[in-house]
Amino acid sequence: MKEYIEEAEQDLLHTYNRYQIVWDKGDGVHLYDIEGKEYLDFVSGIGVFALGYNNKAYNDALKAQIDKITHTSNYYYNIPAIDAARKLKAVSGMDRIFYTNSGAEAVEGAIKAARKYAFLRDGNTDHEIIALNHSFHGRTMGALSVTGNAHYREAFEPLLPGIKYADMNDFESIRAQVTDKTCAIIMETVQGEGGIYPATKEFLQQVRTLCDEKDILLILDEIQCGMGRTGTMFAWQRYGIKPDIMTSAKAIGCGVPVGAFMLTEKVAQNSLTSGDHGTTYGGNPLACAAISKVLDLFEEQKILDNVNEVGAYLSAKLDELVEKYDYIKEHRGVGLLHGLECNGPVGDIIIKALDKGLLLINAGTNVIRFIPPLVITRENVDEMIAILEECL
Ligand SMILES: *Cc1c(COP(=O)(O)O)cnc(C)c1O
Repeated sequence: MKEYIEEAEQDLLHTYNRYQIVWDKGDGVHLYDIEGKEYLDFVSGIGVFALGYNNKAYNDALKAQIDKITHTSNYYYNIPAIDAARKLKAVSGMDRIFYTNSGAEAVEGAIKAARKYAFLRDGNTDHEIIALNHSFHGRTMGALSVTGNAHYREAFEPLLPGIKYADMNDFESIRAQVTDKTCAIIMETVQGEGGIYPATKEFLQQVRTLCDEKDILLILDEIQCGMGRTGTMFAWQRYGIKPDIMTSAKAIGCGVPVGAFMLTEKVAQNSLTSGDHGTTYGGNPLACAAISKVLDLFEEQKILDNVNEVGAYLSAKLDELVEKYDYIKEHRGVGLLHGLECNGPVGDIIIKALDKGLLLINAGTNVIRFIPPLVITRENVDEMIAILEECL
């Protein structure tokens, strides 16, 4: 591994401080490095491999599509894109889909749709968007503009004008930022990178009501917390509200680079139209064959049931750790998306866990994040907790 890592550090732009592992393959909830060491995976490629690794039905569907065609261009139609859109509409209740290649691009599209909607309404081009502190929406310029982490933004200013920040679960802080120019409020239903902060029901319902009163569009970023992660297909589905625009990526393709933004019919009819937006690869048959098969397998393998059952078990186990260790301050999370906030950095704990064959990841410096494949079992949770305790 050492030789490969040295070569990589010569050739790749150093934008990540990577863990010193070179992966070879995965199977189920386990990953294997090129020296054959096995790891129990509680990271899933940051919430991507929901179905676990090397799922045969998924692999076969992709292989079959590769042998037919992988790219066509959006100037034509293709059946996988049509199938996937039908299935996405059914599970989300949204009305129109635009496929992207990543999460950040889905956020870009959502921002453009919101601005166009406001532009068509009043003809102005100085609209504002309210985003949340500690949010993460991606690294491209538009998505970065609404990412509530000044450190990520600073060197790249000026970004989009008219972005204002408020706090998660503090409705007054949102209301204080609303003006006649506000066109959208964007937030993650459960903040992921920022440290695993779920929106409260009261907060999200108040935001929804405010948006309805002022014709402000609610954009929910479900890139990390969606696709079954919290026990419903999309996290907002347990809040009794619905977004005007939703973004998805990560687990929607389970390993193929793909994302989407989805709109209600009302927003779709009054925002982006021919010539307003596009992408070469977005919605290509290979990526869409992946989405289509992922959604089938979610149903066949009863993924949501497993998330609810094993998620509750994991949650109880993490609560026990809070009681037991002074170094752990708080546990937050839902379904199979959890964080343990510690009274100091968690980097060393994660390195120790790697050594013992357990993959964990942080969310900020002080939070250990648990974001395993959604097919994880209670036994896997027990095994993880045992190793984590040794490290603690
Ligand atoms: C990962 C993530 C993104 C960015 O997705 P990319 O595919 O990395 O561009 C945006 N929003 C949230 C909530 C994410 O977790």
